[in-house]
Amino acid sequence: MSALLDLRNVTVRYALNHGPRRRELTAVDDVSFTLESGEMLGLVGESGCGKSTLGRAILRLVPLAAGEVHWQGRRIDQLGRKEFRDLRRGLQLVFQDPHACLDPRMTIIESVAEPLRSFEPGLSRSQRAARATALLDEVGLASELSDRYPHQASGGQLQRAVIARALIVDPHLVVCDEPVSALDVSVQGQIVNLLARIRRERGLASLFIS
Ligand code: ADP
Ligand code: MG
Repeated sequence: MSALLDLRNVTVRYALNHGPRRRELTAVDDVSFTLESGEMLGLVGESGCGKSTLGRAILRLVPLAAGEVHWQGRRIDQLGRKEFRDLRRGLQLVFQDPHACLDPRMTIIESVAEPLRSFEPGLSRSQRAARATALLDEVGLASELSDRYPHQASGGQLQRAVIARALIVDPHLVVCDEPVSALDVSVQGQIVNLLARIRRERGLASLFIS
């Protein structure tokens, strides 16, 4: 059985364009690990050491300079855009700043339901709304919050909404990039516990960056 996620000697470089000579910064240098279904892996390190870059590389948001990423036994770092799109729903990302992940013009329930438009185009509007409502309940958001806009909710509430939005497509893996660092200390523990509970209940694998 192949691992859910298998990183082999992954290296990522950024081009630094200032100055007369072209220089490069190696943000991720020869990283290898595997993650099995339902497993959690913590990625801990000081600021600037390349954690977010590694998360982005897994999701193909930055190109690899070297190495390979395998997902469910299949190499994905060189797949075409369309082929990757079909796999993409299995791999979701929760970012540090919930405000940046939610469209300020959409209500919370609209944002949570939105990924279903592209991933399950056969669903009706009311079916999408029903799925989103179930997810809001799963992440502990009161139903009266669902029709609010992001500016009308707290950071902790928004992060719950972002988690619901990531889960609504039933992923196999969530990459959580410092999901609580932008939140008040008092709610950080609640979100960490929520992520742990969801992982347990859903048998979801997670890569937890902190
Ligand atoms: P972390 O998440 O561990 O704080 P990052 O992955 O964000 O680290 O960044 C790793 C290194 O790459 C840092 O030195 C950062 O300044 C640099 N970096 C990040 N993004 C870019 C970019 N788009 N262009 C150039 N350098 C970048
Ligand atoms: Mg980071």
